[in-house]
Parts: sequence; C-alpha cells; structure tokens
Amino acid sequence: LFLTFEGIDGSGKSTQARLLAETLRAAGHDVVLTREPGGSPGAEEIRRLVLEGDPDRWSAETEILLFTAARRDHLERTIEPALAAGKIVICDRFADSTRMYQGLSRGDLRALVDQLHALMIRREPDLTLLIDMDPDTGLARAKGRQGAEERFEDFGPDLQRRMRKGFLDLAKEFPNRFRVIDGNRDVDSVARDVAEIVHQTLRP
Ligand code: C5P
Repeated sequence: LFLTFEGIDGSGKSTQARLLAETLRAAGHDVVLTREPGGSPGAEEIRRLVLEGDPDRWSAETEILLFTAARRDHLERTIEPALAAGKIVICDRFADSTRMYQGLSRGDLRALVDQLHALMIRREPDLTLLIDMDPDTGLARAKGRQGAEERFEDFGPDLQRRMRKGFLDLAKEFPNRFRVIDGNRDVDSVARDVAEIVHQTLRP
C-alpha cells in the first residue's frame, strides 16, 4: 500500500505522516516512512541542489527535470522495493507536490510535469491524504520554524493561497485516491481522522 501526504507548507502533514507510521507499526504493520524531495541517497543530494542556495539557480524547466530525476531514483531505490516486499510506504509529498509547486508557481508548466511523469514515473499512490489548512496559519507556522527564514523569503501569502486552492482542485481531479482532511484542528483530532481513513482502506 502506497500512501502519500500532501498540503501547503505548515499544514502539519509531516507530523501526521510520522504519527500514522507509529500507529501502523504499533498495529504490527511493516512501514517505510519517507519524504520528497529526497527519500534515497541520490534524491537527497538532488534535494540539496534544488532547495538550498540561490533560488534562481535553475530555470523552471530544469527544476522540473531535477524533481523528476529525484522521484525516479526514490522510486527505484526506496519505494518500489518496499512495496514489492509487501510493506506500507508512507511518503511525505510526492508527484502531486510537483504538479502544484513546479507546475503552478513559476508559470503554467503543469503539462510538462504531467508529460515527464507519464514517461518516467507513472506510479500514483493508492491513497493521498490532503491536509487542508488555512493559508495564513500555515505560512505563520512554517515561518516559525528554525532556519526557515531564508526559505520563505519569497514565499508570500498569495502563492500560499494559490497552492491551497490548487491542492483542493487536484483532489477533485483525482477523487478516487484523494481524501481531504481539515488540518485546522489539534494534532490528535487530525491524526484520528487520518487513522480512520487508512483503516478503511486497509480493510479487505
Ligand atoms: O515538505 P517540506 O516542507 O520538507 O518541503 C520543503 C520545501 O520544498 C517547501 O518549502 C516546499 O514548498 C518545497 N517544495 C517544492 N516543490 C516540491 C516539493 C517541495 O518547492 N515538489
């Protein structure tokens, strides 16, 4: 079973991914918790290339190629072997984040993202948990993180709002695998909803 968490920055999806992994492990499941960009040694190197340093270092198109290369390596080295071994894979962000961030933030490049996905990735998650969050609250949370200042300098409320709407539209585009969860609540309430949805999926 391949599960992904998506949402805007500060939505709490990384916390929820970790809590779900703990819950499933406690229930006896073999779980691999991973993240994007990154999740394999090669993809973590690409993560540094795209997320650290000068944000204008890469053109929008080159950035899409780098994210796709990272995802391909992550799939080959981490995700596919774990799924083949019957494990549950929980991934913090996956192709939907590229459809949003690389596809929408620097012009409309969604078609290019989709073309490269069809060529090199193809796999979609069995279930995607979208943690929906008020954009201003999310931004404030993300900015409050240690060392986050530089990363969020250009990450204004407008982009955050567009990304929120974009993710909700994406959930409508792929209704079979998306579940939208209200993230504007305490961590435990959100985690309970997540666990309930996943248990429904696990039931034969
Ligand atoms: O999920 P996480 O907070 O680790 O993401 C790190 C940063 O990378 C975030 O600021 C996110 O907006 C950005 N990102 C991106 N494109 C992706 C995935 C993440 O710009 N495909």
